[in-house]
Amino acid sequence: MADLRELYQQVILDHNRSPRNFRVPEGANREAQGDNPLCGDKITVYAKVSPDGKIEDVGFQGSGCAISQASASLMTSAVKGKSTAEAEEMFEAFHGMVTGEKDTPTLPRKLMAFGGVKEFPARVKCANLPWHTLHAALGHVGRVATTE
Ligand code: ZN
Repeated sequence: MADLRELYQQVILDHNRSPRNFRVPEGANREAQGDNPLCGDKITVYAKVSPDGKIEDVGFQGSGCAISQASASLMTSAVKGKSTAEAEEMFEAFHGMVTGEKDTPTLPRKLMAFGGVKEFPARVKCANLPWHTLHAALGHVGRVATTE
């Protein structure tokens, strides 16, 4: 557990300092906005999904705390190249992990680092926001959805 906590801090720092996929992907055909008023995090997630349901490209824009930004950065890295079904499975697993509802041994290790967030209930929404927004984007073709 101690090294996961260390990994958590490293991951947050690293991805907050140099966020991955902080852009609107060319040819994006899915989009949703997420809002976490408790913390002031706002995010828009964009994805380019192929006709057979593969996430060819994904990116995000927005502003917020280090945790929401790092989570968005990691999320986009994790789901790029995956099918939408695989991304939805990751969403379920991540959500279960940060809320402490279930164990999620199948997640990539860097995402597992966010498990520490469940010790800080006020931060769970920050970590979850990008995933909820992706979930909304994948469920709504060609329109903007708001999660809250
Ligand atoms: Zn936040």
